Amino acid sequence: MNLHEHQAKELLSSYGVPIQRGMVVENIDQLQSISQEVKKNTGSEWLIVKAQIHAGGRGKGGGVKLAKNDKELYDHASSILGMMLKTPQTPKEGKLVKKILISEDVYYPGDSETQEYYMSILLNRKESCNMIMYSKEGGVDIEQVAEKTPELIFYELIDPLTGIMPNQLRKIAFNLNLSGESFKSMQVFVKKLYDAYCGLDASLVEINPVLKTSDNKILAVDSKMTLDDNALFRHKSFEDLRDNSEENPVDVKAREAGLNYVDLDGNIGCMVNGAGLAMATMDLIKQSGGEPANFLDVGGTADAKRVETAFNLILQDEKVKAILVNIFGGIVRCDRVANGIVDAYKNLGEKINVPIIVRLEGTNSEEAKNIIDNSGLKIYSAIEFKEVTTQIKEVLS
Ligand code: GDP
Ligand code: MN
Repeated sequence: MNLHEHQAKELLSSYGVPIQRGMVVENIDQLQSISQEVKKNTGSEWLIVKAQIHAGGRGKGGGVKLAKNDKELYDHASSILGMMLKTPQTPKEGKLVKKILISEDVYYPGDSETQEYYMSILLNRKESCNMIMYSKEGGVDIEQVAEKTPELIFYELIDPLTGIMPNQLRKIAFNLNLSGESFKSMQVFVKKLYDAYCGLDASLVEINPVLKTSDNKILAVDSKMTLDDNALFRHKSFEDLRDNSEENPVDVKAREAGLNYVDLDGNIGCMVNGAGLAMATMDLIKQSGGEPANFLDVGGTADAKRVETAFNLILQDEKVKAILVNIFGGIVRCDRVANGIVDAYKNLGEKINVPIIVRLEGTNSEEAKNIIDNSGLKIYSAIEFKEVTTQIKEVLS
């Protein structure tokens, strides 16, 4: 689950990570009172207006603007709020800005001492441990740094048993060319950031820029965070942080229905019970000359409602030329699943515009095949895998 900058900053702050402070405005009418409050709380006369969307590169796209007075603040806020913001990380048409963050200006006027660093924490799957990536060349051009001068990016692997060690914190601060007070504050910053990453069960925290102010404070000016979906059960309240409008509508529907769905590029939609069987089914489709259009595990109870929701999900994908239903009746009986499929098919009616191949194997598979065959519907039925292969080939030819 991805978070907005303001949500991530709030969570980081609860772990003691110093952040650029600010408040969210959802409606331009709130601007006056909220900006006054930010000024009062932070003592900053200048404010920065930041578009809240799930994408980076906002600054370059015109979604981050500094306001030096009330008029500029109103102009920036009213132009950013409600705009379709286009950045290299958004879809072509851009993303609608529904909220803006009004923050204190932390780059003090005429300040040549400020420095922008890059820092992220993520899981290094190859080394099976968390890793801190950092660079003293942070800021809006980090992608270019990574491409043209990758040697300027440092990596620190964290042993999961010991956690981050004091010598590693010193090394990071040293590699960032810091000394004196900021050498110390950076170590505190990294330690707290790492604690937050672990405590929140995040799979990514990216702070770009981490800022060193002219008075040697270290703070997070931006924050991108991904929480591990598989750990969300440990943080029930985080469900409120989810912004469905930022996600793929098909994924949202699947999650709400409790279906495990992953969109793929192929032409054969599949509906399977059990993740292992779903993987095997995808192999089978490939061997028959097709390409799976999705991974979909409908779970143990393949009843009419779930089957219908699953059909609806698959049918949203225009690439789909045929649908393969591959269900193993272990605990769930095949005849019940067959009835579910027939009911779902009847409910969907015209919506089903591609051939459907159903393979039901396991308890009561013969009865199931009879139910499908006698339904009068345009459904191919099969028990053996190899019959399915032939049918897929037929459909594709
Ligand atoms: P991104 O473009 O989506 O990564 O958004 P960021 O939050 O990183 O902001 C983009 C850039 O805006 C930063 O790299 C800074 O250069 C600038 N910026 C952010 N906060 C401030 C601020 O308080 N004052 C000034 N002057 N510039 C800021
Ligand atoms: Mn940034």
